Amino acid sequence: MPILTPTTITRPKPYLLAITWSDGLKTTITLRTFRDECPCASCKGENIMGTTYSFGIQVMKPGMYELASIQAVGNYAVQADWKDGHNTGIYSWDILRGIAEHYNLSDDDLKRLEEQAAKEGLV
Ligand SMILES: [Zn+2]
Repeated sequence: MPILTPTTITRPKPYLLAITWSDGLKTTITLRTFRDECPCASCKGENIMGTTYSFGIQVMKPGMYELASIQAVGNYAVQADWKDGHNTGIYSWDILRGIAEHYNLSDDDLKRLEEQAAKEGLV
């Protein structure tokens, strides 16, 4: 099976990440989801001998859900740079695809988010 790769990654709204894939699938997730699913060891815990250890308690930091930039890592992953300084999350295409498929937002979800964002003054 060919590896599915993103063909475009955009931010249609400050709080959304839209990814179009090489098989034509279009997915949209929130930046919050993207951050919450950060695959790095300090967010996801480290798998040692089959047991996952989590380090520390996740504390809500300013800028935590604000993306400073996304950069390509070779041709296999993207690295997210968050405004709270966290930048160790490297999302390989298969991890990213898994997150995008699992949390893909429906049109209804998107509408609801838009209304909520308008209320909170995020748009
Ligand atoms: Zn992380």
